[in-house]
Amino acid sequence: MLYVDAHSLHRSASQNVTSLVNIRITASMEVFETDGICTVGLHTDDVTEDWRDALDIVEDLMSEKLVLGIGECGLDQSSNAPWIHQVDAFEYAADLAERFTKPLVVHCVKAHDELLSINKFIDPIQQWVLHGFVKGADLARQYLDSGMILTFGAAVTKESASLVEAVRMCPSDRFLLETGADNVRIEDIYNAVAKIRGISVEELCTAVHETFEKVFISEPPQ
Ligand SMILES: [Zn+2]
Repeated sequence: MLYVDAHSLHRSASQNVTSLVNIRITASMEVFETDGICTVGLHTDDVTEDWRDALDIVEDLMSEKLVLGIGECGLDQSSNAPWIHQVDAFEYAADLAERFTKPLVVHCVKAHDELLSINKFIDPIQQWVLHGFVKGADLARQYLDSGMILTFGAAVTKESASLVEAVRMCPSDRFLLETGADNVRIEDIYNAVAKIRGISVEELCTAVHETFEKVFISEPPQ
């Protein structure tokens, strides 16, 4: 079986796992190195008034073959980073995704209304992937209706009733799975999600792999 880990801090050593590693770009970064497929973005915690310098580096990396998307970039009301700069940087990153026809991996904490309204305003052609979704079915539905794809992570192993409902109702081609920043095996996340959805892990691997290919590997929407 092939497991896709769609948002990971480290590349798995297992041959059965494809890891899309998230690389945080900052303005002071001098050398870019990656040992495989990755996304590059400006994390909300790294946003300063000089956010544009970091996103200029992200822009320069768009021609790298192993860079499959932009992100994570996003909005976080619990971060110490100045909100106004977070919004400006996020909108700029979303514009880069459109210009370079790349998917955008989105991070969102306590800013769901703001994210939904920015999404509506930008009305992107490129796919937005909201990573680390931990909320309930109502909010999941709003994101799905907006066109976004959700990524579920370690929280699915903790059996929160509202998240379980969101995982169960999500169409099979509208979500991905991730380890994110958590010390958890991607296989355990697949096991938990397969159980919640009442399907085999094999079926789940196939569905997630297809979605991953569609979002990150295939020709981008024009
Ligand atoms: Zn994040």
